[in-house]
Amino acid sequence: MSTLDPTDWSALRSLGHQMLDDMVDHLATLRESPVWRPMPAPVREGFKAPIPTQGTPPEALYETFQANIQPYITGNLHPRFMGWVHGGGNPVSMLAELLAGAMNANCGGRDHAGIAVERQVIAWAAEMLGMPAQTSGVLLTGSSMANFVAVLCARYKALGQEGRRDGVGGAKLTAYASAGVHRCVPGALDMAGLGSAALRRIPVDENFRMDIPSLRAAIAADKAAGCTSFLIVGTAGTVDVGAFDDLATLADIAAAENAWFHVDGAFGALAVLSPTLKPATAGIERADSVAFDFHKWAQVTYDAGCVLVRDPAIELAAFAQATNYLAAAPRGLAGGAPWPCDLGPDLSRGFRALKVWMTLSAYGTQALGDIVDDTCALAQRLASLITASNRLTLLAPVKLNIVCFGITGFSDAQTSDLVADLQEEGLFAPSTTTLNGKLAIRAAIVNHRTTAADIDALVAEVLRRV
Ligand SMILES: *Cc1c(COP(=O)(O)O)cnc(C)c1O
Repeated sequence: MSTLDPTDWSALRSLGHQMLDDMVDHLATLRESPVWRPMPAPVREGFKAPIPTQGTPPEALYETFQANIQPYITGNLHPRFMGWVHGGGNPVSMLAELLAGAMNANCGGRDHAGIAVERQVIAWAAEMLGMPAQTSGVLLTGSSMANFVAVLCARYKALGQEGRRDGVGGAKLTAYASAGVHRCVPGALDMAGLGSAALRRIPVDENFRMDIPSLRAAIAADKAAGCTSFLIVGTAGTVDVGAFDDLATLADIAAAENAWFHVDGAFGALAVLSPTLKPATAGIERADSVAFDFHKWAQVTYDAGCVLVRDPAIELAAFAQATNYLAAAPRGLAGGAPWPCDLGPDLSRGFRALKVWMTLSAYGTQALGDIVDDTCALAQRLASLITASNRLTLLAPVKLNIVCFGITGFSDAQTSDLVADLQEEGLFAPSTTTLNGKLAIRAAIVNHRTTAADIDALVAEVLRRV
């Protein structure tokens, strides 16, 4: 018999202690390193090796990690990372990942504490969003999968078990979202077999919110053409500019049309934790389903997405499959149904819930709400510095934590070069987006480590280069 465990644990123990010390140092000294470093070609080549047939001591692998992996990682821990919408993680979540790895729990099902912790997290999420206590849901990789699960629940409501068994056939189901919808929503319709063209992208108003008269007109036109309007997707915090659709009105329209009302609140749903921002989310509590991430504004380490479904019977009916080898029992380890594998597409799944539970427990929703507020205040600070400069222009209203701006007289190519320079020099990592046909520099302030000094330094650095 060969086992992968060592006979003498002391070497592994001291390596583990070293790793933990180093990672705590890493978190404590983030500002001293560049935000991001491009991977040199030889380092990249090192990851094109053949599969090892013989082992390497973990001490040597750790050295490779320190030399070739750690320095070249995304950079989203860093306070000056402002690209895309990336969370900054937190130290308690890091430790929870160690514990979850040590437990190696399979949280697809069965009766154990991993499932209880996940149910607790789902109940907290429902409470946080004002949804009913019996709301069901699962943790997933991210909002892309959460939106997909929601689309499959909506499809189930429209087509029932026949749709699951026979496919969508010629059903003419149409869905609606704002033009600012995240690309994963048409992707979810594609994966659900409905086709991405089934999603009608409704124009937005000057505040980047879905234009309601246009939505009504699109639904009427589809009905006249014999389609069934089965799904309305509201966005709470668009990825481009952080806009909130009028969720309460969308809920009314969905109710009148007997359509499923889903909210993509990937990061914006967390605005419920801020007393000042919460009003923008009004109506989210009426959703049939909500997709959001703990790994963005809630600062849980990657990955941690969540879907909530108001009617637990629908989520179960949309995913459960009867199989002998997975039959639930009234007692024993096979008890405790329904299992997460009956509420989403994954069977084997890790213990994601532990880091979410530990993060929410360690900090509490008030502190997380303060981060939401603080990052929005920093976005306002950035917006006013931009407005005050005669070289910079705001390209979208700043309602949340996302600031899109342009440089007077700069072509799109110059803007793109400037952003890449900032990234490659390791100074700042904003990203870009295209708004009204013009390339914008986009700073999404998500990280709890970002300060006013970082914002001021970003503006100073951009102005120095224009
Ligand atoms: C980030 C984001 C998504 C995708 O979420 P992932 O966690 O990256 O899968 C979907 N919608 C919006 C609005 C987002 O910001």
